[in-house]
Amino acid sequence: MMRFLRYLRGSGRVLGFVFVASVIWLLLDMAVLRLSIGDANSRLVNERTVREQEIAQQQVLDSSDLKPVRLFRTQKRKERMAGQDKNNLQPEPGEGQLHAVAKKPVKLFVTDASLSQNNTINNDSVALRRSVERERREPEETASNASVQASKPQQDMPEKLPVQATHKSPVKKEKQIKELQTQGTNNGSLVKEKQIEKLPIQGANNVSLVKKEKQMKEVHNQGTNNASLVKKEKQNEKLPIQGAHNVSSVKKGKKIGGMVGNNSIIVHMNDTLAVKAGVHRVLSLDLTAAPRNPNAVGQFGQAAVVPRDKEVLSKQRWNEGYFNVYLSDQIPLDRAIPDTRPDTCARNVVHNDLPSTSVIFCFVDEVWSTLLRSVHSVLNRSPPHLLKEIILVDDFSKKAYLKGNLDKYMAKFPKVRIVRLEERQGLIRARMAGAAIAKGDVLTFLDSHVECNVGWLEPLLERIYLDRRKVPCPVIEVINDHDMSYKLVDNFQRGIFKWPLVFGWNTLSDEYVKKKNMTVADPIRCPVMAGGLFSIDRKYFYELGAYDPGLEVWGGENMEISFKIWMCGGTIEIIPCSRVGHIFRGKNPYNFPQDRQKTVQRNFARVAEVWLDEYKELFYGHGYQHLLENQHDIGNLTEQIQLRDRLKCKSFKWYLDKVYPELEAPLVKANGLVFNRGSRNCLSVRNRVLSFEKCDLSKQSQHLNYTWLDHICQRDLCLEPNVIQGSLSFQPCDRTRPVLRWLHKTSKSPLSEHLISAKSSQQVCLEASQKADKIHLAPCVASNPFQQWEFTNYYSV
Ligand code: UDP
Ligand code: MN
Repeated sequence: MMRFLRYLRGSGRVLGFVFVASVIWLLLDMAVLRLSIGDANSRLVNERTVREQEIAQQQVLDSSDLKPVRLFRTQKRKERMAGQDKNNLQPEPGEGQLHAVAKKPVKLFVTDASLSQNNTINNDSVALRRSVERERREPEETASNASVQASKPQQDMPEKLPVQATHKSPVKKEKQIKELQTQGTNNGSLVKEKQIEKLPIQGANNVSLVKKEKQMKEVHNQGTNNASLVKKEKQNEKLPIQGAHNVSSVKKGKKIGGMVGNNSIIVHMNDTLAVKAGVHRVLSLDLTAAPRNPNAVGQFGQAAVVPRDKEVLSKQRWNEGYFNVYLSDQIPLDRAIPDTRPDTCARNVVHNDLPSTSVIFCFVDEVWSTLLRSVHSVLNRSPPHLLKEIILVDDFSKKAYLKGNLDKYMAKFPKVRIVRLEERQGLIRARMAGAAIAKGDVLTFLDSHVECNVGWLEPLLERIYLDRRKVPCPVIEVINDHDMSYKLVDNFQRGIFKWPLVFGWNTLSDEYVKKKNMTVADPIRCPVMAGGLFSIDRKYFYELGAYDPGLEVWGGENMEISFKIWMCGGTIEIIPCSRVGHIFRGKNPYNFPQDRQKTVQRNFARVAEVWLDEYKELFYGHGYQHLLENQHDIGNLTEQIQLRDRLKCKSFKWYLDKVYPELEAPLVKANGLVFNRGSRNCLSVRNRVLSFEKCDLSKQSQHLNYTWLDHICQRDLCLEPNVIQGSLSFQPCDRTRPVLRWLHKTSKSPLSEHLISAKSSQQVCLEASQKADKIHLAPCVASNPFQQWEFTNYYSV
């Protein structure tokens, strides 16, 4: 017996030893596994970040690589956001010269991945963040100066587009859309099949989707063998997405779900190891009421058709929103739309600890169904843990349904808050009212007639996570105003402007894209944003002084925030993996308390005065000189100017050189000697007296400028006519005095070579005396060569 016990003790020791050894081995094995995945993830994210940095640096574009800029004459955000009316496309004259940008070497922060390898999740992220910080501190790259070429002056700011505006330019071919749309039409699934394949996580009505252990293993194994956690398409297909009702036991999964309205969902972080490594694949959530009716009007973003007997009604209701309100009301509030993201987007990884966002919708008299569809698209397609709240700011709407009915409807959705303004504030101050009560880390502004697409939010938040001074914008796709179909837009579009601050879209050329090795999913640096849809770090928004609260109703605020962001240290980007549809309307369905045109012009003048420095003359010179006569109308700018000083923002010249070098921005219309055809002599200014001399380029006294304010000047002295006496003198320049303006080369009229006093009632021209070396004013005669003048250099005609 004793021997047996001793024997047991002996083998117990052996067993104990084997057990301890196994545990140690297991622990070691796990640690190795974890490191290798952590490494893989870090490397993936870091590689991507480096690549984006590289692309960002390269995107200080040289215009040889750009297609001609497409511009739209009206100031409507319709053009800002899509620019669809081919009638309004203005092919511009010869683009400016190209300027190679000194390339910055790729930063070495990729080595930070090695730091993160041995660290925990947080260290991983910290390493990334640190590297971004370091990137920020690097001195700016140098870019050669933009040379200038003639640009065509735009004289007017015409009214809105006709209602029938076609959405030509940014919209992809119908065929492609159809392909996408048909993918879900033949079954009753919540999301079209292609989307389902991509969805790692799905959940609806207390449903959580749980993958089998075997599948989990597959995922983990991929993580260990592969540098990415991305499943191959084939493997993806193998994974059936199950919608088992009331399943709540999630094996190995991390429950990070929350409430979306009445639908409690469990977001199942199936890649457990990815969670540990600090990143996960973009969530392609599309939570919606089940079953989705595949035959519903407009389902899957398809074009809806007005039945014959409803045509009159549909026409009658058009003016409620200046789009097909009748059809909008027929379309489900949670309709599916095609997943228009580039293929790689669904496989991207983003950080687990992304900032949360408050989504802010401002509206005034918005159509019920479009407002609700906007809200539902956010609720249904945003990861709940990232959606802090939705703030609806009612900018003093008059429609009754937007009061009690809306309160009642939204009461079902705990995340939705409604703020009601007591008087009409306009879009800009309404947004600020929303921002003021927002609790999310990030503010996401959206128009109130949009549909957010699958996976729209995380790619935006990821950019801010990487650098809080990035201001990401989704790709703005088109919800057709006539048939409500969802149309994807062309790739590689960036927001730009031309004088006088007219927003437009500009496509990066194929050559450029090729040269820079860009993919359709890479962020695109954007000189200006369209304005309606973007995310911004909440604190950063306030550091920038938010919007200028002196901007009224609508217009110009996109320029203001764009210049402010770029010039004060930030970056604006379009994120192709984030896509939001927007209904572009031919008209604003709300009133402007003051004249619409005046309101918009005034806003622009405020922006020009604060941000454009000496280049503001280009703004005024493109049809806005009249605004200079009543400067007090644009309100007080002291605070805005102080803000710019306080933030130590860079100059507009810096912006042009570094951010938008392709813009033609000559500071004067013409300069050099002023040659008279008749006498073949040149103007000269000595002691404020105008005389006439033999032309001599070396004499500074003969050098004059013809400015965007139509002044003929030398330094700060301007040529002033005395029409009554027919005499001339040089006086201090004063942009508010129209008498100092001279017209020259304004049109193809016979007087285009003349210098016509802009102020005189009958046309009076500058004329050289035929005998003496004198100059005087005389009634204009087209054929008189003594009234014909030519500057040495012309930049704008
Ligand atoms: N808006 C507002 N107050 C205004 C004007 C506009 O709240 O005084 C809202 C409007 O309802 C919309 C957003 O601001 O949600 C942008 O306006 P709109 O869609 O008319 O601009 P567009 O897209 O046509 O440029
Ligand atoms: Mn809009």
